[in-house]
Amino acid sequence: MRALPKDLQLGPRGELTGLICPDCAGSLSVTVLFGSSVSLLYACRIGHSYSTTELLAAKEQRLEERLWAALYSFEELATLLQEMDGEQPEDGFVERHGEDLRIRVRSAGENARRIREILETDRPLPVAPWTAPVGDHPPGGDAP
Ligand SMILES: [Zn+2]
Repeated sequence: MRALPKDLQLGPRGELTGLICPDCAGSLSVTVLFGSSVSLLYACRIGHSYSTTELLAAKEQRLEERLWAALYSFEELATLLQEMDGEQPEDGFVERHGEDLRIRVRSAGENARRIREILETDRPLPVAPWTAPVGDHPPGGDAP
């Protein structure tokens, strides 16, 4: 699926995109607006709306947040499994899954390391930081 529809037309009707809203994960539509210049307005069904700059900033921010969440999840899992393997009273789980558990500790740790490397080297598009949904967006282009 394309992110943006082909051949967008100027007009009041939005066209469905292949994008999701950064705030609610609903589908986004895009409308071509004409004010002092042509601009695009992205909006979901519940009213979150973004200029192009705001959408890109929000997408960059959500991507970083999700990478941090994935990093912490892998680190937490690796730590939990490591502690289960050596420090907790034996309830039979480690005995039944010992080798798989140790393999998972290593893979979770490696995945955390790779995500950290992405976080340290990825450079987002340099747009203004996104702060909050803008609600109903006035027609006419990017917010100042
Ligand atoms: Zn939304």
